[in-house]
Formats: sequence, structure tokens, C-alpha cells
Amino acid sequence: LRVACPSTPQAADLVIERNTACKPKPDPSTLVFGKQFSDHMLTINWSEKGGWEAPQIKPFQNLSLHPASSALHYSIELFEGMKAFRGVDNHVRLFRPMLNMERMHRSADRSCLPLFDKDELLECIRKLVEVDQEWVPSSQDTSLYIRPTFIGIEPSLGVSRAGHAMIFVIIGPVGPYFATGSFNPVSLLADPSFVRAWQGGVGAYKMGGNYGPTIAVQNEAVKRGCQQVLWLYGEQEEITEVGTMNLFIYWTNDKGERELFTPPLDGMILPGVTRQSLLDLARTWGEFKVTERTMSMKELLGALDAGRVLEVFGAGTACVVCPVGSLLYRGKTYQIPTMQNGPDLAKRFHKELTDIQFHYFCLIND
Ligand code: PMP
Repeated sequence: LRVACPSTPQAADLVIERNTACKPKPDPSTLVFGKQFSDHMLTINWSEKGGWEAPQIKPFQNLSLHPASSALHYSIELFEGMKAFRGVDNHVRLFRPMLNMERMHRSADRSCLPLFDKDELLECIRKLVEVDQEWVPSSQDTSLYIRPTFIGIEPSLGVSRAGHAMIFVIIGPVGPYFATGSFNPVSLLADPSFVRAWQGGVGAYKMGGNYGPTIAVQNEAVKRGCQQVLWLYGEQEEITEVGTMNLFIYWTNDKGERELFTPPLDGMILPGVTRQSLLDLARTWGEFKVTERTMSMKELLGALDAGRVLEVFGAGTACVVCPVGSLLYRGKTYQIPTMQNGPDLAKRFHKELTDIQFHYFCLIND
């Protein structure tokens, strides 16, 4: 392959090979997250010697990898999760995609993978979505999920920086997280013996290695009758994230003020695009205090006991917001009155964000 630009992939060099055997589109009511993929994919190869090759959009296909590829042995792998929406005007738009490109760039830097121009990569992704635009579903609350992925493919078992790497992007339609009109609360297992991320670790980066080890804990939660995991950290049992979502608590604080609280970006928390968007919205409204700080399990349970907790919810691309209804901690179940309180704030966030995504996106779209 021709080397287009050694220092960064260039969208202008894109080579497009159209799929001549396009699949029928699935019925939107049967969509299962992450199982249906479109007709094309984007790949961009890099090597230490040659730099970046020309980006390629080609028919969706299996990858052929050397069995010693570093992604397969040492998890030199990172990814992103973002969505394209078909607006009520039938235009397809991405939601704050530059925030995903920036996070991907930081993950690449931390993984010793080659850096890239964020605008150029985004332009390649836009082109992929354009080629497969018929895959962006149009029924209510559906969208096109976009999975940019970056892997080290050095064909060597040495534990060292990958001299060969590949960015690939696959996309596929996804259905609504909640059936229309419903807003189901989840139950959480909070067990301090499991830790997702730690100070000095890589919790703030979207690396595959952060996710594989959580599956056994998620299974443990289900075994104990819960749906997801509330990740705690350290001696103070700080509350950090919920499943693969950022955590928000809306409460009356000990000074009697209404306050929205979420843990700070201290290196353990994944800087979610939804998290940022909720903070931006709440600060724009200016109706209550908005605080990023740590909170211990003890403080949360104390506030619950005092009847000061109004709503607890997760926030992420998959669901926008997901209410939390109960907490299993050290053998005891604590009810959280999120649903009894509307949940007014969670619903307002959900409406505001989906309105931006489907109706008047331009307000905060980057
Ligand atoms: N935390 C974790 C651990 C996640 O994997 C995700 C999903 N990317 C989030 C939070 C939410 O991030 P976003 O709003 O960007 O989807």
C-alpha cells in the first residue's frame, strides 16, 4: 500500500472499495446491541518505518492478524463508543464526536500507540458513516453505534512498544436502551473487594484491558440478584462508577442545598462524553449546585438514611441516563428513592440530550 502521510492519516487520501454484496437492513425492533454491523469498515495501518498508510473504507470483513500480535497478548488495544443519529430533518449527525477523538488520542498516547490528527480521523469516520448512511435507522430512539478501535499488531512476543498498529472502525444500528416510555431502575452490587481502577492506573483511558476483568464481577453481581456493579475504591470506599457508566447523585446536601454530584476526573474515572454533557447542561441551567468531588459509601448511606438522596443514576452513551433503584452492600439491600422522585432530573437530562441528538443538536454539538 502507498504511504500517504507518515505523520498522520489523511482523509483526503481515503481509498473507497464499495461492497457489491450489501446485506438487507435488520428490522429496527430486533436490534441487539453490538451484534449487527453495516456493509463497510474503515482501516488505517501504521508502521514505525513507513508511518501511516492511506485510510481505506472497504467491505466489512474479518481481520487477518499474526498470532503474535501485541493486542492479543498484552492488550495493546483501545476503543471508543459514539453514536450517529438521524434527526427529525433526516440529516445524520454525530454527537460531540471531537470529545471521543480527544479521549482516543489520550488512550493512544498512554498505550504507546502512534498519535494521529483528530480532525483527519474524524473526517474518515464521517466518510464511513456517509458510505453506510442507510444503516442509520430512522425509527424512534434508534441510532448508529460507532466503534473506533486501535490495536498494536507488532508480530513479536517482546513486551515493548508496538512498531506496527492498526486503527479500524466498525459501525452498526442499535435500538433504544429503554422501551419507549419506560425508564427501568437497576439494582447495584457494591462490594469493596472488587476494584475497577486505582490511583496511578489507567481507569481514565478507554483500553480493552480495563473491561475484560470486569465481566466476572458483573457475573457475580447477577449471581447475587443485582443487575450492575457499583465500583468502590480505597479505604474510604469511594464511589466511582456504575457498570460502564459515570455516576451521578442528586441530593440535598448537609447545608440544605440541592446539589448534583459526580466523582472528579482524578485518573480513575472514565471522562464520559455524557458526563460532560450533563455537567454542561446543569451548569447552564444554574438551578442547583453542581459539584465534582469524591464521596464515600459511608457518606452516601448516611444521606440515604437521612432521606436526603433524591436520585441516583448512571450516565453513558448507551442509555444517556439509567436510574438506580437499590444497592446491595455488605449483605444489606438499601432502597434508593430515584423512581419515587420522578426521577425528575434524570428524565429532564434524558429529554434534553435526546432532543439535542434528534431535534436541535446544534446547541452543544461540537
Ligand atoms: N465509564 C466507563 C467505564 C465507560 O466504559 C463508559 C462508556 N464509554 C462511560 C463511563 C460513559 O462514557 P460515555 O458517556 O462517553 O459513553
